[in-house]
Amino acid sequence: MTMKIAVVGLGAVGCATLLALSRKGFAVEGFEQFRVGNDIGASGGKTRQHRLIYGEGAAYTSLLLRASELWQQLEQEQQTQLFYGGGFLTLGTPDSPWFQAVEKSARQQALPYERLTRQDVNQRFPRLNVDADEEGIFDPAGGILLTHELLLASAAQAEALGAKVHEHTVVSAITAQGGQVSLTINGEVRQFDRVVVTTGAWSKTLLPELPVKSRRLGVSFHIGKAEGFDSVSFPPTMRVSAGRAMWNTQPLPDGKNFKFFIGDAEFNEEHDAQLVATEASDSLTPTLYARIDGHIAEAVNGAHRTIVGGGTWPEAYTFDQAPLLGELPSHPHVFVGIGLSGHGFKMAPALGELLAQAMAGDIRLERDWPLFSPVRQFAEPLAAYSR
Ligand SMILES: Cc1cc2nc3c(=O)[nH]c(=O)nc-3n(C[C@H](O)[C@H](O)[C@H](O)COP(=O)(O)OP(=O)(O)OC[C@H]3O[C@@H](n4cnc5c(N)ncnc54)[C@H](O)[C@@H]3O)c2cc1C
Repeated sequence: MTMKIAVVGLGAVGCATLLALSRKGFAVEGFEQFRVGNDIGASGGKTRQHRLIYGEGAAYTSLLLRASELWQQLEQEQQTQLFYGGGFLTLGTPDSPWFQAVEKSARQQALPYERLTRQDVNQRFPRLNVDADEEGIFDPAGGILLTHELLLASAAQAEALGAKVHEHTVVSAITAQGGQVSLTINGEVRQFDRVVVTTGAWSKTLLPELPVKSRRLGVSFHIGKAEGFDSVSFPPTMRVSAGRAMWNTQPLPDGKNFKFFIGDAEFNEEHDAQLVATEASDSLTPTLYARIDGHIAEAVNGAHRTIVGGGTWPEAYTFDQAPLLGELPSHPHVFVGIGLSGHGFKMAPALGELLAQAMAGDIRLERDWPLFSPVRQFAEPLAAYSR
């Protein structure tokens, strides 16, 4: 008989898992406390950067390659554009450990890249203002992903394959017993053969023992004064120079507006996900706005000074910033896909596929992906904001 599987939480990982399980022919139901494609969870805020050359570790490259194949497949199936290419630029001083890690990762994985001098960067990307000692590493496979569209397309494709999606539906308890898992769903108890918990920053409400912390990350939105803010002329860029503020810029698909993020101590603090979700949408502090103003004036040519919007979104971090992916020994048949730690959107389709492969018995996550083991040992404390 077909296994009955529930996916709790339909953000980036939940939608990807729902689709991957549907492709494998399981009887799958997804539960989301808000709506699919909402702007409340960690997958909100319109766009996300994608890059293949990964300073976080070469182990991610195969996942990122697979994720790219999966969203290309989804673009075909749903006849919609989910990715805007143009590349990804890492900007930094050559002595920056992060800059060096990016170049090392490209070499190790034999990925195509271009090493750019300051002059090259200025010529090719005139909207960026580069410090005298900064250089670039250009990843031609980078670009931006449309977050809400990707989630909606994944859920729609899963439904077309037979999955059921329940919105405005809260799962408030999970109990594993006698080879089955009981979920309390909007107050009613239902049984499943397997459950995948993908509840992001809300995860500790259901599974308090998980080694994750909920933080908030904020971005601001800006308008360019003229042309030149499309994803080719102004590719997503991360500045990682030693001893200077870490920031990143990201074009929006209209080619005129862009997003800005700055690493700030505010984002290292622990925050309750539900509180972040209910904050005003324009919830960056005046101090942070002042810092952003200063950096935009310095780093971007031809942008309006006014910040036209900003917000914060709750995200689950692990102590080593790698996700928790696999079955929980304390809860047999309960799997988690949690803790994407501020960089996981781009790999979510591949993580969903790994969970579905584990459910089908094709792989054993504990053996094949020990890096993501939900019971691995962490060296606390949680590192300060690093990307
Ligand atoms: C501001 C910001 C910028 C980022 N930038 C990048 C980037 O450029 N590139 C990149 O790759 N990654 C980036 N990330 C990280 C990436 O976006 C996240 O890691 C990813 O979206 C997390 O997805 P998720 O499915 O784990 O969580 P979420 O998207 O938060 O999904 C969890 C879902 O579960 C639901 N839920 C929770 N509890 C329950 C319950 N009890 N019952 C039912 N439903 C429930 C929630 O409502 C939510 O919809 C960024 C993150 C943030 C916040």
